[in-house]
Amino acid sequence: MDHFLYRDGQLYTEDVAIAEIAAEVGTPFYCYSTATLERHFRLFDDALEGMDHLVCYAMKAASNQAILKTLAQVGAGMDVVSGGEYARARAAGVPGERIVFSGVGKTREEMRSALEGGIRQFNLESEPEMRALSEIAQTLGVVAPVTVRVNPDVDAKTHAKIATGKSENKFGIPIARAREVYAEAAALPGLDVIGIDVHIGSQLTELEPFRLAYEKVADLTEMLRADGHDIRRLDLGGGLGIPYTRSNDAPPLPTEYGQLIRETVGHLGCEVEIEPGRLIAGNAGVLVTKVIYVKSGEGREFLILDGAMNDLIRPAMYEAHHDIIPVVEPAPGLAKATYDIVGPVCESGDTFAKEREMPPVSEGELVAFRSAGAYGAVMASEYNTRPLVPEVLVNGHQFAVIRARPTFDEMINRDTIPEWL
Ligand SMILES: *Cc1c(COP(=O)(O)O)cnc(C)c1O
Repeated sequence: MDHFLYRDGQLYTEDVAIAEIAAEVGTPFYCYSTATLERHFRLFDDALEGMDHLVCYAMKAASNQAILKTLAQVGAGMDVVSGGEYARARAAGVPGERIVFSGVGKTREEMRSALEGGIRQFNLESEPEMRALSEIAQTLGVVAPVTVRVNPDVDAKTHAKIATGKSENKFGIPIARAREVYAEAAALPGLDVIGIDVHIGSQLTELEPFRLAYEKVADLTEMLRADGHDIRRLDLGGGLGIPYTRSNDAPPLPTEYGQLIRETVGHLGCEVEIEPGRLIAGNAGVLVTKVIYVKSGEGREFLILDGAMNDLIRPAMYEAHHDIIPVVEPAPGLAKATYDIVGPVCESGDTFAKEREMPPVSEGELVAFRSAGAYGAVMASEYNTRPLVPEVLVNGHQFAVIRARPTFDEMINRDTIPEWL
């Protein structure tokens, strides 16, 4: 079910015409669908039905308060990777016992605030981090529930910048050293070793790497139990990919992924957590921009948009593909045009697509980048003093601005002038 469809010749998000939002909010902006967010969460939740489980949304994918609240209300926990994300999750009303703290470099301050505010577990990634948490937990007179993130050394077969489960990556501890590290963790005061964590990468389009990783986690569970550890929770990470084009082979479905989890770790009797980010938010959002100019170059035409790499960095950073479609439905049978699609930022890297075939559009028309809900707005910056791109949430017939576009004055007044100037 797609909640971004043409209706009466216009692109809609649920029951709201995108052109109507653009007229009120201006462009560019991100537009999310509540129904899609909820549906994607439920796909995972249902896929694990019958197992003791919690779906912890990896909020780094899209962390607006309204998105977090939407997901928390249908039962999501949160996976956070910084003190700021922890504070955001708490501000959105997520209780500490539903928040998992991941990340390779948690600071002592971050650990302290999560221990004081309440936390479901820390996923620890190194021995120094274990020792730091032990110290802080002791100082506060509490016991911190922990898992250790193991690096299973499997090839996630995804883009190098989002693969995390190979031995050369910075994440986790090598699985071969796990027994030794668990022995040290168990001996440290202030830590309660409750489980194992693994996360091998993002935008995985096959199940096989998950299978290899989860089989290794299952073996490790039995080994650690034999060593005397009470392993009762498995955090299996996120990473399930999404279709970024309509033509490509579709990635595995959450139901198939859930089945794989049952097959690989179901017999262990552990509580299971998963941390999907992209699959929940990715196809729940579009970036809407306006064509500023259509410019003819040497043997090519440039579509110059008012959205840029600072608003959506995925194409520049990961060579990512986004389908780009006109907001006014093209007439059936209309011949396609070929464009280099770029933003106005002063970098050649500010190119969204080269030689892209799409329906012809003209100056002033709106176009939408599909699949932009994850790792879109959260990675936006104000480079070139372009205002931070606003966000809009649609729910049925209603829409609301959930992050407003800052004014130039607001942006400028964040700077302060030292007294000597
Ligand atoms: C980024 C991340 C996720 C989410 O990955 P997706 O590909 O968005 O599902 C989950 N867990 C951890 C530890 C991460 O770093």
